[in-house]
Amino acid sequence: MTGQNTLQNALSAEIDKVLGCIHCGLCLPSCPTYQQLGNENDSPRGRIYLMRAVTEGRLDAASPSFSRHIDLCLGCRACETACPAGVNYGHLLESARETIKYHGGDSAGPARFQKRMLGYALRNIFPNPKRLGTTFALFRFLRDNSLTRLIFRSGIVSRISKKADFAFSLLMTTSQGISRSVTGEASGAGARQVSVFTGCVMESLFKPANDATKRVLAVNDCSLRNVGEQVCCGALHAHSGDLETARDLARRNINAFESFLDSDNGATIIINAAGCGALLKEYDQLLKDDPAYAARAEKFSRSVRDVTEYLARGEVKTGAPIDRHVTFDAPCHLFHAQRVTTAPQQILTSIPGLKYTPLDGMQDCCGGAGIYNLSEPEMSEKLLADKIGKVKATGADLLVTANPGCHMQLGAGLKIFSVDCGVAHIVELLDESYRKAGFYSK
Ligand code: SF4
Ligand code: SF4
Repeated sequence: MTGQNTLQNALSAEIDKVLGCIHCGLCLPSCPTYQQLGNENDSPRGRIYLMRAVTEGRLDAASPSFSRHIDLCLGCRACETACPAGVNYGHLLESARETIKYHGGDSAGPARFQKRMLGYALRNIFPNPKRLGTTFALFRFLRDNSLTRLIFRSGIVSRISKKADFAFSLLMTTSQGISRSVTGEASGAGARQVSVFTGCVMESLFKPANDATKRVLAVNDCSLRNVGEQVCCGALHAHSGDLETARDLARRNINAFESFLDSDNGATIIINAAGCGALLKEYDQLLKDDPAYAARAEKFSRSVRDVTEYLARGEVKTGAPIDRHVTFDAPCHLFHAQRVTTAPQQILTSIPGLKYTPLDGMQDCCGGAGIYNLSEPEMSEKLLADKIGKVKATGADLLVTANPGCHMQLGAGLKIFSVDCGVAHIVELLDESYRKAGFYSK
């Protein structure tokens, strides 16, 4: 089968998953876009029905109405956890987006220009480590210089443009966290062999959280190995329907980690970004038709664990008390895609002195959804407003999460809605507890 035919049939190849939907509608109450719009076509069941119409030739894949309903989907996969028939909606969505692209469909939404720019960046910048490094260096320069900070604090941008202020806030939020006072990575000398998948956004804009992850693992009996040749995981590409670039990136990461995985039976790849983790665990699905990579992808995916999931398997080492009031927002790709539902709370309750208030609807999408907040700002804003209202109701002074996109979206939301609450990666809290206990001063 040629590459072209494969693309043409991206949705048709998933027909079993489409037909697996029994139209029960149990997913409807979990779907944020259906809840907001009340339109069946913006529900999981409705979208699957439209996909079926495309595969049966009753609906043109390039039609603006098909694109619009598919564009509006957050890819949050809340419908998957609600579905009694086990419909793998996330894969269907990616295939639908790939099919739209192949048939020349274009976004019919309000942010068509932003989408094209983001598509360009995904195709031309993210797969190239040099270009990506330069782009992120520019972002860090903008974020960290004192003039930018002065402008940010003055509120002048919000008086000029709300949209620009939101984009600005997303960037400035990446400097928030609680691991800034400790620096340095850790190699550890424990019995468990791990390697952290550092990711592109995490390593470039959230390096303190990555370093905290390594220190925390070292304290918890791990030996860490750095794998230098790793590249972007490809999650943003897969979610936007660019499955070929996602596959290319997956192959490069499998090559990079192969000798580490071969070095020890229990070697584990640790990820602290939920969106990346969900795709790393699905490289086996992504490459199932590639004879040279299918088995290697399966071994890779089997070896991936979210850092909270990995730590919560054993007894998490106890640190010093932390006098903070926290709440936790579960990233969709941790809760729904990876089904890691209780490990983060186990981590939080292992920290002495911490006051933890559960967040109402913690598993509901915050509206960040990768680049959805830039491509579908209206829907994203509605979901964010709802989420921030619930965070405020907890009275917490720190909101923790486990994904860079959620971190930025929530941090920007707290700023825009003037809620006095910080934001951090959950591992940074454990790291702070260990720092206070003196684990790093030896
Ligand atoms: S992925 Fe989220 S937004 Fe999309 S159909 Fe499922 S529940 Fe709705
Ligand atoms: S819950 Fe599952 S089977 Fe039922 S309508 Fe939704 S996707 Fe289809």
